[in-house]
Amino acid sequence: MSHGTMETIREALLRASRFFEEKGVRAPQFNAELLLQHVLRIDRTRMLVRFQEPFPQAEREAFDRLLARRGAGVPLQHLTGEQEFYGRPFYVSGDVLIPRPETELLIERVLQEQGAFDAPVIVDIGTGSGAIALTLALEWPAAQVFAVDISPAALQMARRNAERLGVADRVEFLQGDLVQPLAARGLRPQIVVSNPPYIPTADCEQLDVEVRDHEPRLALDGGADGLYPYRVICGALPKLWPDDGPAFVAYEVGIHQDRDVEAMIRAALPAGESGETGIVPDWQGIGRVIWGRRGE
Ligand code: GLN
Repeated sequence: MSHGTMETIREALLRASRFFEEKGVRAPQFNAELLLQHVLRIDRTRMLVRFQEPFPQAEREAFDRLLARRGAGVPLQHLTGEQEFYGRPFYVSGDVLIPRPETELLIERVLQEQGAFDAPVIVDIGTGSGAIALTLALEWPAAQVFAVDISPAALQMARRNAERLGVADRVEFLQGDLVQPLAARGLRPQIVVSNPPYIPTADCEQLDVEVRDHEPRLALDGGADGLYPYRVICGALPKLWPDDGPAFVAYEVGIHQDRDVEAMIRAALPAGESGETGIVPDWQGIGRVIWGRRGE
């Protein structure tokens, strides 16, 4: 990464973009632009306006360090410290899964239930950054939201996000494994949501380097067949849901898991009563969100 002393912002961008291309980073120009904007603390418009100005000497070292780390596979979001989800910024780090766009489908599916529940208790199991729990709290003001995670570091990040987004008073954070802290508190949520770790253990090594080496294994590894968390949560649903009234569950699942998880949900619904399940495909046609509803 050699550069002249009077490199302009435009030239720094081109240099970064070419470097990422060489390193096989996807979307090299986008990555270059975002890191440049991050290090200079300017938006895209300011960047374009200042294209021909010299790149500030004071920021050069920091920029080059970011380029080197990104080139070595560190996720862009770990360098900027943020990821947008459902139109809002979330702090992220190596302690939490970076929120993915397909998880917004889970939000949309849960929000479709707003007509069926008054002021439900919603539980998000394995909240990570808090993306799901906090978005639901913001989009569904009448709901009371609980966010569970086994990782204290993840819960700390979720709390930070709750404060930033102004919902810290509406969301309670519980540390523990899957449904265990709910049972311990005697909580009976009407709505259970989760994007648990669902990658089969053996497949974890085949993940992209950026995911495999930088995102928490705790948020990825779903056991031998990737279905362990669904088994535990579905097994607990009959006792977790309130005895009466409507009840709902929605999960994000991995590829080829839709039918198995739908069958687990069906098994959790009371026999002979009105119950319904369904699968929402993502933009690639993969069954991504699996849901179930227990009737009145
Ligand atoms: N969607 C993530 C990935 O493919 C996995 C997230 C999860 O296990 N819940 O990297």
